[in-house]
Amino acid sequence: MELVSTTQPPKLHHFDRLPAGLANVSLDRLGTILPGPSLIRIAGEPGPPLFVSVLLHGNETTGFLAMQRIISEYGAPEQPLPRPVLLFVGNVAAAAQGMRKLDGQADYNRIWQGDRHPEHLLAQKVLAEVRKAAPLAGIDLHNNTGKNPHYGCVNRLDCASLSLARRFSRIIVWFTEPHEVLSLAMSHICPTVTLECGVSGDATGTNHVKNYLRHCLELPEETLFSPPPNHLNEIYHTTARITVPENLCIGFDPCEDGQDISFREDLELLNFEPVPAGTELGRYASAAPALQVIDDHNRDVTERYLSFTDGRILTRVPMTPSMFTSDTRIIKQDCLGYVMETYRGKEDF
Ligand SMILES: [Zn+2]
Repeated sequence: MELVSTTQPPKLHHFDRLPAGLANVSLDRLGTILPGPSLIRIAGEPGPPLFVSVLLHGNETTGFLAMQRIISEYGAPEQPLPRPVLLFVGNVAAAAQGMRKLDGQADYNRIWQGDRHPEHLLAQKVLAEVRKAAPLAGIDLHNNTGKNPHYGCVNRLDCASLSLARRFSRIIVWFTEPHEVLSLAMSHICPTVTLECGVSGDATGTNHVKNYLRHCLELPEETLFSPPPNHLNEIYHTTARITVPENLCIGFDPCEDGQDISFREDLELLNFEPVPAGTELGRYASAAPALQVIDDHNRDVTERYLSFTDGRILTRVPMTPSMFTSDTRIIKQDCLGYVMETYRGKEDF
């Protein structure tokens, strides 16, 4: 049973100007400048702000590092940015420890709908402030733990959202589950994108995001939201997620004693690749319950996607996975990965 905490919600801290030292502070010392989750207004030329969110997951540092570069390069706050920025720095406590979230905390990217956790109240406060600020666009910055290309995710298939994603990568993922994410709540306020920026801390990723943010700060609105040529895109639709029952002992090849499931060593290499039916994902001990595949309507669709034969976990249909990771802690906290299909439904974009 999941415990619903009755503790106080984490306090939202407001900064009406960029706090001194933020551009240079190391993540383990971030708490000396930001006492917790913080909404920071960074001054810019007149106009609607850009909403940028970083560190919803404390171990996903690229967005924060890119924002530090932006602040330094533009000389903020002494010099105004080309556009104001409303910056949300999420799970400061987990970031100090290099963790996605701390034990006992809700996942900061699963609190933007609902009201079960104290953190939901924090999310509602942030959204109320964002609505008031009426941003031009929203950008939520994340990393993967597994080997994935850089890609942008949208929750709506409108031109502005897709254009924002396309400016980052030709690979675009459209998803509606999990529905408790920040970007989905934001998509009702302004065009919003979630950027998956590769592995945390990788310099190429930081540079890519920093340049992307520069574009978003400098380009006129019409250009920012004008759709690129349709044929250049690869749009995927996330249809299901693969989860591992909590009590199982999992690992990767080579299999160790006592492991219920041993995944293939190169599992991450399957991300964004067309994987044919009959592909082995791993092996399971005979008594172990299976992996579960859950679709967007929360239905168990395991039998449609996977078969379990002679101790082998096999794909039953062709699929394109994403976010497969070999980080067993992340698999337990979140999921093994997602199943996607190529989206061909909207020819006018
Ligand atoms: Zn994340």
